[in-house]
Amino acid sequence: MIRKEAELILEIRNLHASVEDKAILQGVNLSIRAGEIHAVMGRNGSGKSTLSKVIAGHPEYIVTSGTVKFQGHNLLELEPEERARLGVFMGFQYPVEIPGVSNLEFLRVATNSRREKRGQEELDTFDFEDLVRERLKVVQMDPIFLERSVNEGFSGGEKKRNEILQMALLEPLLAILDETDSGLDIDALRIVAAGVNQLANPQNATLLITHYQRLLNEITPDFVHVMAAGKILRTGGKELALELEQSGYDWIDKEQNHMEAK
Ligand code: ADP
Ligand code: MG
Repeated sequence: MIRKEAELILEIRNLHASVEDKAILQGVNLSIRAGEIHAVMGRNGSGKSTLSKVIAGHPEYIVTSGTVKFQGHNLLELEPEERARLGVFMGFQYPVEIPGVSNLEFLRVATNSRREKRGQEELDTFDFEDLVRERLKVVQMDPIFLERSVNEGFSGGEKKRNEILQMALLEPLLAILDETDSGLDIDALRIVAAGVNQLANPQNATLLITHYQRLLNEITPDFVHVMAAGKILRTGGKELALELEQSGYDWIDKEQNHMEAK
């Protein structure tokens, strides 16, 4: 079958990055096209969160070489806010609580900032409430959470739902979800996964970072990448995640020893 290749959304080439003078990413290559769902798996400490933080623009993570292009923009020279306005969304492994900042107002300001960049009109409080009430359904969230401070006192599952609500409002081109499944019971996991599935479309892309197969039972990735020691060691289809579930990550040590011996 011949078909036109979808638009390249993210293109990472030979990316090296350090944190506190420690080299973490050691040559990551990754291309993500519109309409694709990618999963990055790997042991704890392999550099998965570092990769997501570098893409989002976390100031502590220093890129030492390589390139990251987002829809042709050199992402690395943009401020984190500008990356977000362009459509890079980051769902955090540990969402922060922001006491004193109303969740509703936070969501409204963020949504309007993204809308402005897309040439859409600003939403006033009333119009925004209509939109947010509709989007709450994506994550089956109670409107009461809008009146509280951002994530303050939210359970792990409520925080993750709130992240997906943000995503539903911001309509990112690239959603990076770091361990969105961690700390969720099976019901919350299904709700969050259904939200992510509902938001994925042929124009956007999703990068799931996960330690476990169980999220991938709910969200079917087009590509699975295995990360080890700051590199993508292997790429495959959804079956690679199942293989990892069976064999664990021990084969990585063998492969790495083998490479070092050569
Ligand atoms: P993963 O998400 O795959 O578990 P991380 O990207 O969080 O891995 O971490 C990769 C390595 O980088 C680990 O050795 C971790 O200790 C180190 N690291 C990450 N962030 C920091 C930081 N802010 N300061 C020091 N070391 C860090
Ligand atoms: Mg992590």
